[in-house]
Amino acid sequence: MAPRAPASVRTVYSILADPLILGTTCTAAVMSLGWYYYVSKKPSRILDQHITKKFKLVEKIKINHNTSLYRFALPKPTDVLGLPIGQHISVITTIDGEDVVRNYTPTTGNETKGYFDLVIKTYPEGNVSKYMAGLEPGDSISVQGPKGAYSYTPNTELDRLERQYADQFRVHHTLADPPTDWQQGVGFVTKDTLAAWMPAPADDIQLLLCGPPSMMMDIEKATTDLGYTPPRSVSKLTDQVFKF
Ligand SMILES: Cc1cc2nc3c(=O)[nH]c(=O)nc-3n(C[C@H](O)[C@H](O)[C@H](O)COP(=O)(O)OP(=O)(O)OC[C@H]3O[C@@H](n4cnc5c(N)ncnc54)[C@H](O)[C@@H]3O)c2cc1C
Repeated sequence: MAPRAPASVRTVYSILADPLILGTTCTAAVMSLGWYYYVSKKPSRILDQHITKKFKLVEKIKINHNTSLYRFALPKPTDVLGLPIGQHISVITTIDGEDVVRNYTPTTGNETKGYFDLVIKTYPEGNVSKYMAGLEPGDSISVQGPKGAYSYTPNTELDRLERQYADQFRVHHTLADPPTDWQQGVGFVTKDTLAAWMPAPADDIQLLLCGPPSMMMDIEKATTDLGYTPPRSVSKLTDQVFKF
């Protein structure tokens, strides 16, 4: 009598012999593989505001006499930092036995996979910037974040909120280079724009400013001329005029 095949071989044979079971098994296998591929390729956002994370310096590029670009590796080449727009990270160092924390805004966004860059000006007497200048590839830093008082809301979301809460919320866009049928502001944001669209200075209002340096300077001057409290160089959450 011919020897019987082991049970596992007989099970495989019975699957192969039944087209319905074979089809179902193959479909399940393909779906599992697809799911695994999707999960393993989907970029992971590495920052977690509750956990201090370490990142290894992989490259240091001198930009000028006092400023360098520091490139830090993320755990996997597919990872992204995961910092929301308008927010920053804190670098934590220990200097003379004390924790010294300074904020930095990466110059790379969440489209960059596998690393993030910091561009830092070195102050000869500065604590953390001098510490960073002394780092060599292979050294690590400790990072906390995302940090930031506000999170950025995209324009499309602002327009949706205006439609939904028309009696409480208004949006006015001013474009330097508008399309032909543009109905809203054109050119620069001026004192007149602010006077027309912003609430008058009061204890229960807040202006949030964000933009390139020359625009920030113009608007800061305009808000001060209009009677709002002049903003500080580094804004606090309670400031009447808050600069990002
Ligand atoms: C949201 C945010 C984002 C930032 N992003 C960046 C960034 O991307 N890149 C970047 O380069 N910086 C950035 N900064 C600035 C950064 O956080 C640090 O302030 C900067 O690197 C200096 O830190 P430091 O520890 O080296 O210097 P510090 O030790 O704080 O000193 C800075 C300078 O001030 C002088 N100084 C310090 N204390 C005194 C004092 N009591 N009297 C007189 N002088 C003094 C020091 O001699 C030195 O020249 C950011 C800041 C914020 C708030």
